[in-house]
Amino acid sequence: MRVLVLGGTGDANQLVALLARDATCEVMLSLAGRTSQPRLPQGSHRIGGFGGVEGLVSYLECNRIDLVADVTHPFAAIMSEHAVAACAKAHVDLVRFERPEFVRAEGDRWQSFATIEALAASLAGAPRQIFLSHGREGMALFALHPQHHYLVRCIEVPPDIDKLNHARLILARGPFALADEITLLREAAIDTLVSKNSGGAATVAKIEAARHLELDVLLLARPLKAATRSFSTLDAMAAWILAHDRT
Ligand code: NAP
Repeated sequence: MRVLVLGGTGDANQLVALLARDATCEVMLSLAGRTSQPRLPQGSHRIGGFGGVEGLVSYLECNRIDLVADVTHPFAAIMSEHAVAACAKAHVDLVRFERPEFVRAEGDRWQSFATIEALAASLAGAPRQIFLSHGREGMALFALHPQHHYLVRCIEVPPDIDKLNHARLILARGPFALADEITLLREAAIDTLVSKNSGGAATVAKIEAARHLELDVLLLARPLKAATRSFSTLDAMAAWILAHDRT
């Protein structure tokens, strides 16, 4: 059985490792190529877009793929949409990993926004000390609110970061520990955290740290993805895929 894993996440790497335990399962991990030094599991991988839905259909057919596992990031909506369309056209089975969201606890000061534009627009007003940990997008939007001080954490230098005055950039990749996140937020006197509602153990510590320090949290809500067979744990997903192999 030949499985194409759409990745770009630690979850995808974990799924590849789980599937690799079964010698009858041939796995190809696909990355978009956004980071220059991606973490890669053992096994085969390819890097770069497929060229839209038609490109993916052609890839599935040329490589005789039996099943696609979409383990892209919850915010990678276009790739997931293309996977649904291409698998339907090529008559290839599709499964998706739906990473559970961050869960609100009592006392949390969360505000949710559908778009990065709406989130940034909410920052008109008095100066704040803001931790931008939502990824590389939207720096130009935050630059429209120069009254704030920004601490930005990304894996690689984001485009437009030079537009953001009063900003300090930290380059780091999770997982992050709660004690370190509390220290970081305290030392930078952060009062507002900006994050995607990505979910996942690797980055939940900043949410817990914000809870501990009673900070405002501005969360980007997840984009909707078309329904398909999905799993909320990687073990269940790997077990299903490997059982699927034997049917
Ligand atoms: P996106 O908007 O959904 O996809 C844009 C285009 O990038 C797709 O149309 C596809 O190009 C290509 N692409 C995306 N994922 C791919 C993959 N796994 N393999 C091959 N091509 C891929 O994606 P994005 O939000 O820019 O994210 C890009 C990658 O970074 C994803 O793999 C995602 O898992 C990872 N990531 C994203 C975020 C986030 O917040 N968005 C966070 C962490 C990691 P073609 O149309 O040419 O096929």
